[in-house]
Amino acid sequence: MELITEIEAMREGSRRWHRQGETVALVPTMGAFHAGHLALMRRARELASRTVVSIFVNPLQFGPHEDLSRYPRRLEADLQAAQAMGVDVVFAPSEAVMYPAGEETARVEMGRIAQVLCGRFRPIHFNGVATVVAKLFHIVEPDWAVFGQKDGQQVAIVRKLVRDLNFPVAIEVVPTVREASGLAMSSRNEYLSADERLKAAGLYAALREAEERFRAGERERQALVSVVETALAARGIEPEYVELVDADELRPAPEQLVPGRYLLALAAWVGQARLIDNVVLEVAATA
Ligand code: AMP
Repeated sequence: MELITEIEAMREGSRRWHRQGETVALVPTMGAFHAGHLALMRRARELASRTVVSIFVNPLQFGPHEDLSRYPRRLEADLQAAQAMGVDVVFAPSEAVMYPAGEETARVEMGRIAQVLCGRFRPIHFNGVATVVAKLFHIVEPDWAVFGQKDGQQVAIVRKLVRDLNFPVAIEVVPTVREASGLAMSSRNEYLSADERLKAAGLYAALREAEERFRAGERERQALVSVVETALAARGIEPEYVELVDADELRPAPEQLVPGRYLLALAAWVGQARLIDNVVLEVAATA
């Protein structure tokens, strides 16, 4: 496995593979690998003959009072884990390499979809994500890029980025990897104490209650959202939001669900960690 830190070396490596008839799958990450990241790497290896994992803690996607400085960084352990997964290249550029223009760098503006759900509380976050993903697509020129469903809004935004700006990249989404408790794996779980971890498992438990009501036939948006809110309150969790939106455009679902794919998504603070989770609800078209 090779570690690349410069843009030209990364692009040349990928172009050489393509000239030799190989295909490339990219897994963008911020490092501090857990089993969720490894599942993305496994999927990338199934899709393409070459796998590139990027590790870059992107300052553009952190707000001024967020956790950029304390976000976990452990390149050595990550390199070992990536190698064990059969990754071909880890691309880990510095901030100076990615943003030589600093604050004056050009940015991608995603519009409304970046300002709803988490975007209400993190207004610069998704434009920062879209900017770095666009750069990584230009640098690596992958055939596929693999993302996790845990970040459901990010998936919708990356799909829109590819569609609207015509990137020749296929987007692949991997289901959320969870701990035995149901807690979605996240680098930010490291901020939790043992007690807080138990509490944090309540996020998914609440979503599951609504999922069961949905399976039992509930089709009212507000009823499903209320199930989650009540279940969170019973566990002493006050969410930033609980919303049911259509999975592509992230617009509020109709009061009475019609056939389509919906995201039941939430964010909540537990201790020092801002956690997110979601489940997908699909209403089949009736014959
Ligand atoms: P991050 O390093 O947190 O930016 O995440 C990098 C990629 O891993 C993103 O596509 C995430 O959606 C994905 N990811 C993070 N946690 C999980 C998880 N628990 N299950 C599946 N994918 C995940």
